[in-house]
Amino acid sequence: MSVEQKINQLRKELNQHNHDYYVLDNATISDYEFDIKLTELQKLEDENPQFFNKNSPTQRVGGTITKNFENLTHLNRMYSLANSYSKEDLFDWEKRVLKATGVDKLTYTCELKYDGASINLTYKNHKLHTAVTRGDGFIGDNVTANIKTIKSIPLEINKDFLGDFEIRGEIILPFKGFHKMNEERVANGEEPYRNPRNTASGSLKLQDSAEVAKRPLDCLLYHVVTEDLNYETHFNILKNARNAGFKVPNEIKECNTIEEVLEYIKIWDVKRNELPYETDGIVIKVNSLHYQNEIGFTSKVPKWAIAYKFKAEQVSTKLNSIVYQVGRTGAITPVANLEPVELAGTTVKRASVHNADQIELFDLRINDTVFVEKGGEIIPKIVGVDLDNRPANSPIFQYATHCPDCNTKLVRTEGDAKHYCPNEFGCKTQIIGKIQHFISRKAMNIDGIGAETVELLFDNNLVANYADLYDLQVEQIIPLERMAEKSAKNIILGLEASKNVPFEKVLFGIGIRFVGATVAKKLAKHYKTIDALQNASFEDLKNVDEIGERIAESVVEFFNNLSNIMLIDRLKQVGLQFEINENDTSISNKFEDLKFVVSGVFEKFSRNELKKAIEDNGGKNSGSLSSKTDYLIAGDKMGPAKKIKAEKLGIKIISESDFEKLLN
Ligand code: AMP
Ligand code: ZN
Repeated sequence: MSVEQKINQLRKELNQHNHDYYVLDNATISDYEFDIKLTELQKLEDENPQFFNKNSPTQRVGGTITKNFENLTHLNRMYSLANSYSKEDLFDWEKRVLKATGVDKLTYTCELKYDGASINLTYKNHKLHTAVTRGDGFIGDNVTANIKTIKSIPLEINKDFLGDFEIRGEIILPFKGFHKMNEERVANGEEPYRNPRNTASGSLKLQDSAEVAKRPLDCLLYHVVTEDLNYETHFNILKNARNAGFKVPNEIKECNTIEEVLEYIKIWDVKRNELPYETDGIVIKVNSLHYQNEIGFTSKVPKWAIAYKFKAEQVSTKLNSIVYQVGRTGAITPVANLEPVELAGTTVKRASVHNADQIELFDLRINDTVFVEKGGEIIPKIVGVDLDNRPANSPIFQYATHCPDCNTKLVRTEGDAKHYCPNEFGCKTQIIGKIQHFISRKAMNIDGIGAETVELLFDNNLVANYADLYDLQVEQIIPLERMAEKSAKNIILGLEASKNVPFEKVLFGIGIRFVGATVAKKLAKHYKTIDALQNASFEDLKNVDEIGERIAESVVEFFNNLSNIMLIDRLKQVGLQFEINENDTSISNKFEDLKFVVSGVFEKFSRNELKKAIEDNGGKNSGSLSSKTDYLIAGDKMGPAKKIKAEKLGIKIISESDFEKLLN
């Protein structure tokens, strides 16, 4: 086989596997085998640049940086949709489309209304050519580089479908992926994203397509634009698009009457709660492409289609109290305690009210009956007050003026929605929160100290900031509750080991407001030393890629505070890393978020050496297999039961030398 044939064969195979996995939801090979094939293809392409192809599966990992997205005019205008909210609205619409066509009966296609960001894909000669956002309907942004990283979108399609056409769909972020992204953000000390829709649409405009590739986005298709009337119905053309490789949801249905449409609505109004992604309604379309043409458009919407909007699930309940949470950076978050109530399948006791402005806007008062809604958000939110049910003489709610913890007067800077407790070094919740953050796994990862230990040390006046940790003596710890010689020694050993933790993690650990793990990594890479960072001006910081004004300002403010400088000096003295170690390759983040199980006897490494290599590179070891395990490193004499279990759970089983390859 020639190199070119080999390359083409690998591309074909990988495309097929992507389709099986991301479109059909039916994996045909393991991720590990997939990675091996992809690496092989990448290698062949690198060695034979004459066979480069922009639609190769290797191009899906991204890496293109787009500073300004090019404007592109749509070949065919992208319209919005007219809305309807009742049976009557739908009957009226049916009358209009029947009148426009002059027939007494039409058939329809019902689809779910996927809640994301619309995208227009253009194919030429069966290959993806461009992907453009809706924009104003006439002109959108060319986001092709980002869209290519979405693996359910075929870069090439079966030849028996149309060659040149536009196809439209919705870029969505399924709940599972959204929650996973948020778990990681919270663990990284970053604000969670509010809802899947905004996150999906924000993802399209990220500058670095490699970042987009990491997001579990998906694309559901709902409309093929073509002059070709051979397919006759909308349903038929979608079905054929599905066969050609596109992800057209199986939930679409052909309906012969409006009554059948109503039945479909009734079913999905309930069943949508079981879908893996967000929907906000149903879209009903005249099925015949010929009649669609005859019915035409208004200046904004197609007249042959209509959306039916679901009512967001809402309940009313009593607002019992509003309490305040103090974050480690002093941010105050109000939380509403509600009379427990059932909503979309769960019992709701608390709701977010975001900030003081929100409370004022609703004129929220204790003992009010409030309306609570659950969208894609993590906790439900209060969307209104039932004023008819307000108790007589209820007093206007007074937002806290002082910290619920240390009673310091709260501050609020202009333009910031949140109040803060400024007593950074005297407010117990903040002090403890800061130390807990410092020792956490993603920061200094100090063995032997947990969140409760921090409280214990604080309550016994042994630590009042993270630098104090390094002055601890075994003898001081032993007498404390639940402590003994062994645990005390572990703490000291853990602290000692943390002196090797790389600069970026130390930078994250010292807890500068708005500097999460990702930002810390960026800053560490850019400035290389804490001194350079400390001397950076606001302007300079702002010019670093992906560092905005808010972060820049917060960094400057942090270093303007003498107490912080003194703490950092003490940490420098005990030997923490405040410079990037450029030639250290044994330590990396390449296994970040991966869980390993090491089992059996090995030739080159001892089990402990393997475990250390995993941890040094950001991975996690666990003793037993579970659905969360990513890799099982199998040595000699591993029990057969383990192998069977790993296979059943679909865990990648790798050898010592496979692991070495991963490592290097
Ligand atoms: P709206 O943004 O409320 O005007 O609704 C119109 C948008 O709904 C379109 O631009 C599409 O992005 C989106 N949409 C979601 N699902 C569908 C569907 N099945 N058919 C047509 N449009 C849809
Ligand atoms: Zn306070």
